[in-house]
Amino acid sequence: MSKVILITGSNKGIGYEIARQCGALGFTVIISGRDEKRLNLALDNLHKEQINARSLLMDVSNIESIEAAANLFEMMDLKIDVLINNAGISIRGDRSLLHNDMAILDQILRTNSYGPLLVTRSFIKFMETPGRIVMVSSSGGVLNGDVGGWSPAYCVSKTFLNAVTKQLAWELKDKKISVNAACPGWVRTDMGGMGATRSVQKGADTPVWLASEASKELTGLFFRDRKVISW
Ligand code: NAP
Repeated sequence: MSKVILITGSNKGIGYEIARQCGALGFTVIISGRDEKRLNLALDNLHKEQINARSLLMDVSNIESIEAAANLFEMMDLKIDVLINNAGISIRGDRSLLHNDMAILDQILRTNSYGPLLVTRSFIKFMETPGRIVMVSSSGGVLNGDVGGWSPAYCVSKTFLNAVTKQLAWELKDKKISVNAACPGWVRTDMGGMGATRSVQKGADTPVWLASEASKELTGLFFRDRKVISW
């Protein structure tokens, strides 16, 4: 039986490319997103590439939606080998932690920080052991030097996600489920913009490697370009 991978936010961008690459490796791919039309289109495109794919409607910023998706997943009668928490947002008006509208902070944290944690909490019961969890994070969240001053709420949301990664790696060690974070680099997507330096193929490479060939002994670490980077 082929391995099953669930990828949040995979109807476009890096998540969709992770689905394509994992599909080509032989995974059964469950793509997911909150926009049903775009999700169906992505599913059709994966099927055209002969990828064994299914879809799951899920808004990671909304606990009711996550629980409804988990109930639907249960009916698929599948186990999950790999969970990739990729869904994320940035918001143009995110310029200052002091002056941002609170709604901006709230939406970013609910999607990028609580989202991956709540999805993991709701789907952990379906996970095979050994298994793998990958958080698509950002070097914008690291605390090892000066911050750049760009998108501060987004950066804080990824700092939170990095901390969740380390904590879950510790909690899941005995269950032999590895938990890692990956920074895709600056990627040409709707989020990254067309001026970004990397293709989606390059951005997806490290998450796909963590989902497939990386040693599970590397749990609890943060990667870019398949190399450990500091938090
Ligand atoms: P993107 O092209 O904007 O795609 C984001 C994906 O997340 C879409 O599939 C979107 O689908 C989904 N999404 C957003 N909010 C969601 C929600 N509440 N529930 C479920 N799905 C949701 O962005 P991307 O560049 O591929 O980013 C993917 C990940 O890489 C993010 O976590 C991002 O922070 C990270 N990242 C990106 C870059 C970059 O340069 N692009 C750099 C560092 C890190 P719908 O809107 O249809 O729901």
